[in-house]
Amino acid sequence: MIQIEINQSSIEKIQKLVSENQTFVITSHHNSDGDAVGSSTAVAEVLRKMGKEVKIILPNDFPSFFRWMVGAGDILTFDRHRKEALAFLDKADVLICLDFNQYGRVDELEPVLINWNKKCIVIDHHLGLQIQADAIVSVPEASSTCELVYRVLTLCGFDSFITKVVAESIYAGIMTDTGRLDYASSYAGVYEVVGKLIEKGVNKVYVHDKIYNVYTYNRLCLQATILKENMVYLPEYHAVYLTISLKNQKDFSFQLGDSEGFVNIPLAMRDVKFCAMFTEYENGLVKVSLRSKRDFPASDFASQFYSGGGHFNAAGGKFQGTLQDAVKVFREGLEVYKEKLQK
Ligand code: 5GP
Ligand code: MN
Repeated sequence: MIQIEINQSSIEKIQKLVSENQTFVITSHHNSDGDAVGSSTAVAEVLRKMGKEVKIILPNDFPSFFRWMVGAGDILTFDRHRKEALAFLDKADVLICLDFNQYGRVDELEPVLINWNKKCIVIDHHLGLQIQADAIVSVPEASSTCELVYRVLTLCGFDSFITKVVAESIYAGIMTDTGRLDYASSYAGVYEVVGKLIEKGVNKVYVHDKIYNVYTYNRLCLQATILKENMVYLPEYHAVYLTISLKNQKDFSFQLGDSEGFVNIPLAMRDVKFCAMFTEYENGLVKVSLRSKRDFPASDFASQFYSGGGHFNAAGGKFQGTLQDAVKVFREGLEVYKEKLQK
């Protein structure tokens, strides 16, 4: 049975950093997801309620279906608000890094983080943490960074600051990172945390409506088109891949977050163990998303072929080149992993 253990010395360091400092900057990974925005907005709100000055600075924009979270409207994105962000970074006492494990995950914020010479806190659940910090909570077994944030806040004695809106952000991060308690949730601890959040007043129907029932007609048509026209099933490898070209994006007026969740759909097939989704970007870059079932290491595949990483069953990376070439590398990778896929 998985036990989420957070060592007491990290908690004491966080308590001290919070009590001794006044200005905090929170950041998370590029293309922030529900766990990134949820953990950032939750921590920011708690610190604000304590009377601290706080700013969330994300590398780039995030999907509109996370904008309902507390304080999300005040988030700065480094690609668009660089000057304002740098000014705040300059005066901040403490940097809090949430939901990422490598400096390379924050785009243009990377040099700022690498050269950060003030205090730093990291809370994360990815494999292989590579970020230096004064206080670190890194637990790859945890369902989500949001679950860790809940645990850290309560262990620090900040439970009274977890108001309903903070609980909603934390709940949203747990739901999105676990596929609504499907994957990464086979231990009692995550249900205990969800129970506590419901006790705090989280309205599950409201949160799910805000995140999941937000498709536009275009988004649903994009999904249908990708599954019908751009899905390739490779039964000999128990694998599937999907491609989303720039043309597909143009045809359906693609908005950030519109392809969220698509890569999981083919895993519903009985004998599919591994699925990849390749999304074409303007600058000759292809974003790669990988999902697997059971013992197939998506994270190894991502680091070996796409300079990426992530979790054992949910990973990602990048490829410089065309969609066709990214797929070619995928097919070569499948051959390398054939034995594991056929098991
Ligand atoms: P997604 O496919 O949803 O973008 O990402 C799935 C998981 O892989 C997430 O946990 C994410 O943090 C990780 N991931 C995605 N892209 C990259 C990447 O380029 N590098 C690394 N190290 N991890 C990534
Ligand atoms: Mn996460």
